[in-house]
Amino acid sequence: MNPILEVRDLHVSFDTHEGEVQAVRGVSFDLYEGETLAIVGESGSGKTVTVQSLLGLIPQPPGRIKKGSIRYRGRELTRLRERELDKIRGAEIGYVFQDPMTALNPTMTIGRQISEVLVKHRKMSKEKALRHAVHLLRSVEIPNPSGRLRHYPHQFSGGMRQRVMIAMALAASPKVLIADEPTTALDVTVQAQILDLLKTLKEQRGMSMILITHDLGVVAEVADRVIVMYGGKVVESGGVEDVFKRCRHPYTRGLLSSMPRLDRPKKKKLESIPGNPPDLLSPPRGCPFVERCQYAMKICSEWMPDVTVRSETHQLSCWLEHPMAPPVNEAVGGGI
Ligand code: SF4
Repeated sequence: MNPILEVRDLHVSFDTHEGEVQAVRGVSFDLYEGETLAIVGESGSGKTVTVQSLLGLIPQPPGRIKKGSIRYRGRELTRLRERELDKIRGAEIGYVFQDPMTALNPTMTIGRQISEVLVKHRKMSKEKALRHAVHLLRSVEIPNPSGRLRHYPHQFSGGMRQRVMIAMALAASPKVLIADEPTTALDVTVQAQILDLLKTLKEQRGMSMILITHDLGVVAEVADRVIVMYGGKVVESGGVEDVFKRCRHPYTRGLLSSMPRLDRPKKKKLESIPGNPPDLLSPPRGCPFVERCQYAMKICSEWMPDVTVRSETHQLSCWLEHPMAPPVNEAVGGGI
């Protein structure tokens, strides 16, 4: 199967007064038709910067794609002019933002905002676009959709605003939907409803989806494959079962231990990962997790391990799993 989206060796930096923040450092992945790929990691791991780069949403300056390739259906996106990229944004790849209030225009009615997308990308007349907007609001399960067209964003609850954002992202019938922490700002019951809605719409429309989240519970619920990012790099990737049942990277294990699970013995406390993420102004030369890893060896701070392939679907970058790893007794933290 050919990927619909191919990202290779992507490097993205931000120039600041203090120096160059290397937010994304050599990220590669594929997205296949009809699949849901989750990108997980803590804040500052580079997951949002990675997906925003796909659509040219990084403010330039101070941001810049330093290196790498992003191919959508064989077309290189990093070389497109803003006008060409604008045709792909929305029409081919839809984006659902974390906070709908920053993405929706507070001074325009919802009907006008959705219909503008339809006029621009699907060349509909204003009247037809408004009729279609009703259909879109109904598809994201907003009650009384025709009455709601005249309402402004502040007249919707948080969950309803997120539904409106999803309707806007779907307006031009994109092939790929990127959802960036779509449930973070919502309470638990509404989170579950929005996830169910995304799953249903993705299946109904045969789209591919990239889901950005720090919540592994969401991943288990929705994703087919998972990429784990840390310090601007991909540290482990695999199918959902590979990552949840057979994970090998110490950071992924730490993330899983900090996640509430029904199968965890009641007395077992949730663990957090001690320490802080690396400073991306001067990132470590070797493994980005070295400062927090209890299994760190001398080699870990000197060299970034290459990717080790554990199976057709499961890969990771860790010296513990690397065929060229030094003997275990060189481990500072005592081995795994
Ligand atoms: Fe990184 Fe070394 Fe720990 Fe593996 S063992 S996660 S390479 S610090």
